[in-house]
Amino acid sequence: MEFIDCHTHLDSERYDGGVDEVVERARKAGAVVIITSGVNPSTNRKVLELSRKYDIVKCSFGLYPVDSIASQITDDKITDDVLRYIEKFDVDLELKWIEDNVDSCVAIGEIGLDYKIIPGTEELQKVVFVKALRLAKKLDKPVVIHSRKAEEDAIEIMEEEGMKNVMMHCFSGKKRLVRRCVENGWFLSVPAVITRLDHFKMLVEITPLENLVTETDAPYLSPVAGTINESSNIPITIKEIARIKGLSEEEVAGVMFNNAKGLFGL
Ligand SMILES: [Zn+2]
Repeated sequence: MEFIDCHTHLDSERYDGGVDEVVERARKAGAVVIITSGVNPSTNRKVLELSRKYDIVKCSFGLYPVDSIASQITDDKITDDVLRYIEKFDVDLELKWIEDNVDSCVAIGEIGLDYKIIPGTEELQKVVFVKALRLAKKLDKPVVIHSRKAEEDAIEIMEEEGMKNVMMHCFSGKKRLVRRCVENGWFLSVPAVITRLDHFKMLVEITPLENLVTETDAPYLSPVAGTINESSNIPITIKEIARIKGLSEEEVAGVMFNNAKGLFGL
């Protein structure tokens, strides 16, 4: 089975020196492309390096909503929900760097809105989000969207901005919002943690196969609680989609592969 992991974080310190093995296990499991996403200046540079080191690794450059506004707020506003070091940076300078390096990436992301981690910063986040979306449009790149407790605002803004090539990563919005993404012709990515979360089973049930792609968000969201996730787990997602849709795994794998190829121009 051949597959594409549309969203992972190979730069994560949780892989601590073991990236060679992670990439090799993914390749053996059938990975043809792994898209590793940056979230701030340091990780954007790391994912670029990784894409140069491994032939099957491509990168996307992102501005995570929390990091993007960290320089504009005091540290006590950031809740304990955040799982990693938050980097403060100048958004305009980073957007310029992304533009200068655009030929090395396949997408802009992850970008988006997160009202859970730093409540009360909605307006600040929206300003950065719109800037990133406009850059993606100007550079003709798809976007990888993070939206948490902010799903409807993220959709509304992208509709206003006329975004066409969109992947809603680990989308946790309600049925009505899932359908709205589909109506907009956007893609929803299904993580391997679908085996443990009914929300993603619902998402797969109501979303046409033509609008689905596969991701892991590894090292996070492992299908097995307490373990470190990695790209080699994508076949678990494909199996689960096949079960829900009543199709063969080969058929699902083929459609997922072509969807991702088309979206990211691979
Ligand atoms: Zn992610």
